[in-house]
Amino acid sequence: MKLGPLVVIGVCLLIAFIGLTTQIFIFWKFLGGFTLECMAILGGFNILLGLLCYNFYLACSTDPGEVPPYWEPPKDPSKVLVIEVKKNNAGPRYCRTCKQFKPPRSHHCSSCERCVLKMDHHCPWINNCVGYSNHGHFFRFIIYVDIASAYCLFFMCRRVWLIYAFRHDYNLYYQLEPKGTELLFLILNLILDTLVLLLVGILTIYHTWLIFDNTTTIETMEIDRIRKMVRRRIVSDMEYPYDLGIIANFKQILGPNPWLWLWPQKMSYGGGTEFPIGSHLQPPVYWPPLQSTEYETPTVCTSSGNDVGRRHPTLSQTQHRTRGRQDAEAYALPTINSLVREQMTQ
Ligand SMILES: [Zn+2]
Ligand SMILES: [Zn+2]
Repeated sequence: MKLGPLVVIGVCLLIAFIGLTTQIFIFWKFLGGFTLECMAILGGFNILLGLLCYNFYLACSTDPGEVPPYWEPPKDPSKVLVIEVKKNNAGPRYCRTCKQFKPPRSHHCSSCERCVLKMDHHCPWINNCVGYSNHGHFFRFIIYVDIASAYCLFFMCRRVWLIYAFRHDYNLYYQLEPKGTELLFLILNLILDTLVLLLVGILTIYHTWLIFDNTTTIETMEIDRIRKMVRRRIVSDMEYPYDLGIIANFKQILGPNPWLWLWPQKMSYGGGTEFPIGSHLQPPVYWPPLQSTEYETPTVCTSSGNDVGRRHPTLSQTQHRTRGRQDAEAYALPTINSLVREQMTQ
C-alpha cells in the first residue's frame, strides 16, 4: 500500500480527534451541557468542522486537471494570449513522459505520473496535486482549518483562564480544576490545535500571497529565477502575464461572486489551457521572456571598452549551455530557435 492514502487517513483521524475530544471531554461540561449558549457555540463549531471536512474531501477527490488528449500549441501566434516556451531554448513545452505538449501553466507531476493543468504543487496531505480544478477547494480547506482551529483554541483558552481567574477561591477552584480525562485532553488538544493553527496559518498566508499576484508555487520559483536573470542583464525585463489585479485574481480561484468565495463551488472559468492576461499587455506575450541572450543571437565576448566584466556569452558558451541543459523533467533538449519552433507546431 502506498503512503499517500495513509497520510490522508492520518489527517482525517487528527481532525476527528481534535473535533470530537474537545467537545465531549472539555466544552460540554465547561459550557454547561444542555444550555442555549452551549448549543449555539458547539453548533457553530460543528458547522465549521462540516465545511472543513467537505472541502478536504473535494480537494482530495477532485481531479486537478488533465491535459486534453492531442492538445497542441496554437499554430498561429496572433490568436493566443500567452506563448509559453522552454526556458532554455524557446521551443514549445513538451512532456516526453506523457508524450504530449504542455498547455500554459501546466507541469508534469512525478507523484501523479502525468501532466497537471495549472499545477501549483503536489500536496501529500491531500494525496493529490493542487491544480486548475481543485485549487479553490484546497484554499477553502486551509481557510476553514484556520477558522475552526482558532475557534476551538479560543474556548480552550477560556477554559484555562477560568482556572487561573479563580485560583484564590479554594472551593470554586476545586470545582473548576480539570481532572482525569478532561486534563489529559485539554493538554493534548492545546498542543495539537496550536501546532495545526501555526503551520496551516503559515501555509494560508503563503497561498494568499500567491493568489494576490495570481501565481502558483512553481511560477513563484520561475519568477525568482527570471528576476535574477534580469539583474544579470541576461533578460532585459520581466512582465508576469497572468496578474489581472487582486479581485480578478481571487475570482479565478474562488469564483465570480466574492460573497460566495468561502462556499464550495466548481472551478468556473476557462478550460485550464488558456488564461487571460493583464489588460496593459499586448498579445502574444512570451513567457518566460524571449529576450534571453541564451537563445537569441549570441554576442561574441570582447574584453575591451565598456564590455569588460559584462556577461556576453560567446557562441561556444551558448552552444554548450543549451546542449548541456535539461528541462523540468530532466530531459536534454536540442537548441531550437524561433523558426524551428514555428515549424514544430505546423
Ligand atoms: Zn507529463
Ligand atoms: Zn501530483
